[in-house]
Amino acid sequence: RIVAPQSSSPNEDTLERALRPRMLSDYVGQHNVREQLEIFITAARQRNESLDHVLLFGPPGLGKTTLAHIIAQEMGVQLRQTSGPVLERPGDLAAMLTNLERNDVLFIDEIHRLSPVVEEILYPALEDFQIDIMIGEGPAARSVKIDLQPFTLVGATTRAGMLTNPLRDRFGIVSRLEFYSVTDLTHIVTRSAGLLNVTITPDGSQEIARRARGTPRIANRLLRRVRDYAEVKSDGVINADTANAALSMLDVDPQGLDLMDRKLLDAIVHKFDGGPVGVDSLAAAIGEERDTIEDVIEPYLIQHGYLQRTPRGRMATQTTWRHLGLTAPTSRDN
Ligand code: ADP
Repeated sequence: RIVAPQSSSPNEDTLERALRPRMLSDYVGQHNVREQLEIFITAARQRNESLDHVLLFGPPGLGKTTLAHIIAQEMGVQLRQTSGPVLERPGDLAAMLTNLERNDVLFIDEIHRLSPVVEEILYPALEDFQIDIMIGEGPAARSVKIDLQPFTLVGATTRAGMLTNPLRDRFGIVSRLEFYSVTDLTHIVTRSAGLLNVTITPDGSQEIARRARGTPRIANRLLRRVRDYAEVKSDGVINADTANAALSMLDVDPQGLDLMDRKLLDAIVHKFDGGPVGVDSLAAAIGEERDTIEDVIEPYLIQHGYLQRTPRGRMATQTTWRHLGLTAPTSRDN
């Protein structure tokens, strides 16, 4: 999937890192989140304390990892990065925690996928900067408390609802990232083009921004693909026409929906008569994981009125039928 919100190769990862804003002042959009963090970071710095633990949630590609790095940078501390599924045993997490220096940031991506035994270690670490570890085995085993340096946990997740309550309660700052406006994405595309030495007209930036599903990672990726197209098919300058031609070739439609989006909407309309249909049946029909539908595909479609989530399942809306060039059955009331 060319516009998959996750990065797909080491090469892409390097490019992504290069385009990542380093400071809060370069971080485009997300006004509320930025404003809050600015205040809390300044206050923590003035008191020379660690920043309170931060939970960031929102669909992939909206800038959670970027924010974690920015927090460390603004606090003037190191960032250690790991992810929920990687921390298999309590010892994995204990090793990371005991290596942290004063006020460091520990970033755990996909924090909702921590195993329960690892999560247990985290509670006292977050609350009292202490961990309990078991030494020895059998009857001689005993628990030892180890003091940690004060630190900040930055946790990222696609859905805050998947966190256990005790874990969620231990975050002092909880921020939800929203899809970006076209204006903000235009800004991001223009900035990235500058960093990549690409010549782009304002309407070229806007065309890419309009079709990036509200997601900076997708905007940056589309920019690189459109650049390839412009270099091969014309003089390398990106304007609205080259952007439009390249995006059509990439199967990103004028509304910015990609193949996967259309496949899902198409299935609801054609295989399930417009719904309601349960997410598992839908996943089977289009050959996608349920999680991918819920975390990646659906949020944008729902927010933009292409999909309705009802207690009986997902339903197509008038907008969906229109988008697919069809007329909704008149008996429906959605
Ligand atoms: P997430 O961790 O939420 O999946 P990332 O932080 O990895 O998302 O962001 C993906 C890419 O999008 C980054 O490489 C960065 O270049 C870009 N990006 C994200 N948020 C912003 C922003 N607010 N301003 C500018 N670029 C951004």
